[in-house]
Amino acid sequence: MKTAILSIGDELLLGEVVDTNSARIAARLADEGIATVRKLTVGDDEAGIAAALQELARGHDVVIATGGLGPTDDDVTARAAARATGRRLVLNDEAMARLKEFFARLGREMHPANGRQCLLPAKGELIPNPAGTASGFHLLLDGCLLIFLPGVPSEMAVMLEESVVSLVLARRSGRQHTRTSTLTVFGLSEAEIGARLSDIDRSRPGLGVAYCVEYPMVQVKLRATGEDETALTALLEDGAAMVRERLGDHVVAGGGETIDTVVARLFRETGMTLALAESCTGGLIAGRITAIAGSSGYFLLGAVTYSNDAKSNLLGVPGDILAEQGAVSAEVARAMARGARKLAGSDLALAVTGIAGPEGGSPDKPVGTVFIALADRAGCSAKVYHFSGDREKIRTITAITAMDWLRR
Ligand code: ATP
Ligand code: MG
Repeated sequence: MKTAILSIGDELLLGEVVDTNSARIAARLADEGIATVRKLTVGDDEAGIAAALQELARGHDVVIATGGLGPTDDDVTARAAARATGRRLVLNDEAMARLKEFFARLGREMHPANGRQCLLPAKGELIPNPAGTASGFHLLLDGCLLIFLPGVPSEMAVMLEESVVSLVLARRSGRQHTRTSTLTVFGLSEAEIGARLSDIDRSRPGLGVAYCVEYPMVQVKLRATGEDETALTALLEDGAAMVRERLGDHVVAGGGETIDTVVARLFRETGMTLALAESCTGGLIAGRITAIAGSSGYFLLGAVTYSNDAKSNLLGVPGDILAEQGAVSAEVARAMARGARKLAGSDLALAVTGIAGPEGGSPDKPVGTVFIALADRAGCSAKVYHFSGDREKIRTITAITAMDWLRR
């Protein structure tokens, strides 16, 4: 099935507003296994919109248009839809009834100009807008389903979810169903993952695999398509099991979890408590931990010890080690972790210290050198990493690598 998206609005062409609607629609359709094959943007011009609709209708099964359904003179999409399909504009009673109800609910007078929004192309089917005044509608042109939605992103999004997805799915030929699931992978490049999984989509009919880099993670998206809806879940589970087998514990999350929620679940399940001592990440790790509701049940303390003095005075890192080795070394990381564990009285303490750059590197410790240490009752281990990228990237990958330690 071929789907196109038409974004309407002068402000989009002028670059005053970024076209988020088309991205949102395309992503939502992709979740259902429906590929958008074309996107087009046109201004608020009746003839231009009508021509675009006719052109897109010729090559696609579904066209989803957003924008230009408002009550003002510059909103001409309904007129353009009428022109493109050779229909008249007629007053849609259902749209009018809903509009009156909308204003009554708000306790406001309806402005007569709003009545214009109820003029839809003859035989157009209404798509209710629960969040605003501009009704959507759909109609057929040469076998192509044309769908019209308002431009306001929040209104568009509700209507997409409540009406449009099911309209498009019903249109899909052969009654094919699609289910998707995503696994989050860390510590392998996209190329390496692709090579290890190269035969998965060939091994099971109806199973597809796609990759999406969300630095520093790679999302592996599995898609199962087939007529028997009940078989799809099993197909996805099969696919996920194959991915886990090939990528081992590089799969950090699946089934709707993120690395952060996985870590949270592990702490909840084990009843362990955690403290952090952060230097180069400046609290990023604590931020991720505490972004999860319920973290107060296991997260006791996070110290951002940025200066050498803070590392000594608060965490008890020996001054002579700091003087000898500087703040970035395995020994300092270990001392920070031990110090944080003692300070908090926690089961575990994790520490990071490193050089996020862009300045401050040296030949033996270049920018991107990071030490991570974890202290528990049995002892303390540390490891050095050599990350690359700008300051933000190095800080992000350090925080996620630390989360990965906590996951193990
Ligand atoms: P309304 O009844 O609110 O006027 P409408 O259908 O006429 O709805 P527009 O007037 O075209 O929609 O746009 C309404 C708002 O939504 C504007 O602020 C506009 O910049 C924004 N908008 C329009 N199209 C998009 C888009 N594709 N992506 C993001 N924002 C958009
Ligand atoms: Mg507009």
